Amino acid sequence: MNPFDLSGRVAVVTGANTGIGQAIAVALAEAGADVACVGRTPAEDTVERIRALGRHAEIISADLSTIEPVTRVVDETVERLGRLDILVNNAGIIRRADAVDFTEEDWDAVVDTNLKSVFFLCQAAGRHMIANGGGRIINIASMLTFQGGIRVPSYTASKSGIGGLTKLLANEWAKHNINVNAIAPGYIATNNTAALQADEMRNAAILDRIPAARWGDPADLGGAAVFLASDAASYVQGHILAVDGGWLAR
Ligand code: NAP
Repeated sequence: MNPFDLSGRVAVVTGANTGIGQAIAVALAEAGADVACVGRTPAEDTVERIRALGRHAEIISADLSTIEPVTRVVDETVERLGRLDILVNNAGIIRRADAVDFTEEDWDAVVDTNLKSVFFLCQAAGRHMIANGGGRIINIASMLTFQGGIRVPSYTASKSGIGGLTKLLANEWAKHNINVNAIAPGYIATNNTAALQADEMRNAAILDRIPAARWGDPADLGGAAVFLASDAASYVQGHILAVDGGWLAR
């Protein structure tokens, strides 16, 4: 008996075409899960990698800047993959500007994608999981779930909101055998952080603060996702698991 085995389970991963979402989708498949790769850019490379592992993978097109697709994502997953056991809310965006200049458009775009759509996708999946005896939800949080950051007000608000939402849903749904937790990545080398990596001074300051002395690789998130999706985490609820090379310990 391997408590990390995900054979026979079906996972939905949003934003699975690149970065952290792609790495998590592949890690869940390596642990045995079939995966619905949800996003606005077709996750062709991810699906290919999952199928090469002998697992089933499907692309589900959805623009999560509004909540319009959330029910369809759940329905299509069940229709095409047979069930839905694990939801990973990974899709997210960031906008950078000084707080004094920050626009309503930059506020709404980030909060709608990173927080509002996450809640309503949790709700759609949660209804299905309650009816089917349980499931796992993993939200992707951030260091800015714990800290303030600078020049990213809507991102900090959305990721701080993810922390609270994760705990609220755990409180309401633990009795339904649904485990709701979050992963807080540290500084991971992806499109999301390309501007920081390219900024020589910010890059040096960030590296100087990370005890592991390197940017994280998206694959560094895989183990945490498999753990939280697996039977090994069946008594873990409302937890925000930092995978940050020690950033928060500093
Ligand atoms: P990324 O490479 O930019 O990936 C973001 C993903 O979200 C992409 O698949 C993107 O799709 C998708 N997405 C964005 N808006 C969407 C929309 N409206 N509808 C559907 N999908 C949408 O960045 P990443 O670093 O892997 O980020 C993944 C998650 O980790 C985000 O929630 C981010 O906030 C979080 N995170 C990242 C870091 C880090 O250091 N990289 C740290 C903490 C938290 P497209 O390719 O089509 O844009």
